Amino acid sequence: MADVQTTNQSILVVGGGISGITTALEAAEAGYDVVLLEKNPYLGGRVTQLHQYFPKLCPPSCGLEINFKRLKANPRIRFFTMAEVAGISGKEGDYDVKVKISPRYVNEKCTGCGKCAEACTAEVDNPFNYGMDKIKAAYLPHGFAFPMRYVLDPSIVGTDDGKKCKDACQYDAIDLDMKETSFDLKAGAIVWATGWNPYDAAKVEYYGFGENKNVITNVMMERMASMNGPTGGKIVRPSDGKEIKNIAFIQCAGSRDENHLAYCSGICCVASLKQTRYIREQYPDCEVTVFFIDIRALDRLEDFYTMVKEDQKVKFIKSKIATITEDGATGNLVLEGENTNTGEQIKATFDMVVLATGMAPNSIKSVCSADVSCDEYGFIANDPAKAGIYGAGCARRPTDVASSVQDATSSALRAIQSIARR
Ligand SMILES: Cc1cc2nc3c(=O)[nH]c(=O)nc-3n(C[C@H](O)[C@H](O)[C@H](O)COP(=O)(O)OP(=O)(O)OC[C@H]3O[C@@H](n4cnc5c(N)ncnc54)[C@H](O)[C@@H]3O)c2cc1C
Ligand code: SF4
Ligand code: SF4
Repeated sequence: MADVQTTNQSILVVGGGISGITTALEAAEAGYDVVLLEKNPYLGGRVTQLHQYFPKLCPPSCGLEINFKRLKANPRIRFFTMAEVAGISGKEGDYDVKVKISPRYVNEKCTGCGKCAEACTAEVDNPFNYGMDKIKAAYLPHGFAFPMRYVLDPSIVGTDDGKKCKDACQYDAIDLDMKETSFDLKAGAIVWATGWNPYDAAKVEYYGFGENKNVITNVMMERMASMNGPTGGKIVRPSDGKEIKNIAFIQCAGSRDENHLAYCSGICCVASLKQTRYIREQYPDCEVTVFFIDIRALDRLEDFYTMVKEDQKVKFIKSKIATITEDGATGNLVLEGENTNTGEQIKATFDMVVLATGMAPNSIKSVCSADVSCDEYGFIANDPAKAGIYGAGCARRPTDVASSVQDATSSALRAIQSIARR
């Protein structure tokens, strides 16, 4: 069991994405003790799964590595991976929190040598690549995982594979008897930075996601374009691995729709614009068509939109595509809908389609027993009448990294003020 000494002057941050990391760093650098909990086996959240950041198109590892260094250098922050809140009681300035830690089956002696993965024969769906490929059941979650420590999938514990992994480890780092543990801590304020999930594209039935193999989502495109993704960075058709000549993006796939996400996620237009760049860099002759309701690229991101519009190979058509049908023989996709500007019917064929799905909040209602205000969609509202527990980043609203960081900084300040009031 972890030995975690905290007081009602400490701050608990739940969620180790860019927002949670920022909140933790800002609070710790202002002199407060912070405990940071992350349910994944690594920190960094969804940003780690992006290929490049807009608008500068730099790799996400740039910004994250600086933050990981600050985190390691600051003794005021204690972080736990595979950790979740099991219960909260108390009030502003005096919370009692139960934390549960799921077994990783690998301890801190792990050097990341990879011998366990070599010995392991079992494979599991790779969650980091949204199940587009398989990974050994003894795995490093991704290339620049922090902490750089392997994980064993629970399915191999008690099997020959589990034993093989343990035997292969020369550092006594594998503990097949590891169990779920828990510990209690005290906190004066709590920040939920639990982020977002991609909206489930299968719910938008008329696009046949899951049945039409060459229909993917925007988050899958990020992985496909990444060097450490399922195709080693090559954007190809999932059904047959062919290079693409003609690709469509469908904006607002399930967004701004009362039957799905009624709101605009604000960033998926720019994400698609960014992804047109990934495609055009790999395929100088590929035609790209973006079907949109309206393109939302605000402030400095307008320049990015202007730059993409100048590309003769990228076409923008105002339309809400109604259906996608797969041609069984070729795997090509036939899109039908109406051009909203001209009233003309659209029937066009593409090699591959990307659904620009929106961002849904990771609901905290099932894990947070304390009284927290959420809006009608499940995003946390910082209600002044319920001080002591705050949201940060995409747990509060769908947004980009820069705004998440700003919001996280103000959440750190709110948490500090909360402690100072008591
Ligand atoms: C297709 C796409 C492309 C994008 N591209 C860009 C881009 O180029 N540039 C840009 O600025 N933004 C981009 N974004 C937005 C960017 O991903 C977000 O701004 C960013 O992820 C927000 O970080 P966050 O920490 O708030 O949330 P997250 O990244 O979701 O992190 C939340 C963390 O909390 C953890 N967590 C969740 N629930 C719990 C729990 N109960 N207990 C413990 N831990 C928990 C999660 O595992 C996760 O690690 C893109 C988004 C999409 C959809
Ligand atoms: S668990 Fe052992 S074998 Fe596996 S990577 Fe870590 S040190 Fe190497
Ligand atoms: S950002 Fe664009 S694609 Fe995303 S919901 Fe808003 S308008 Fe639709």
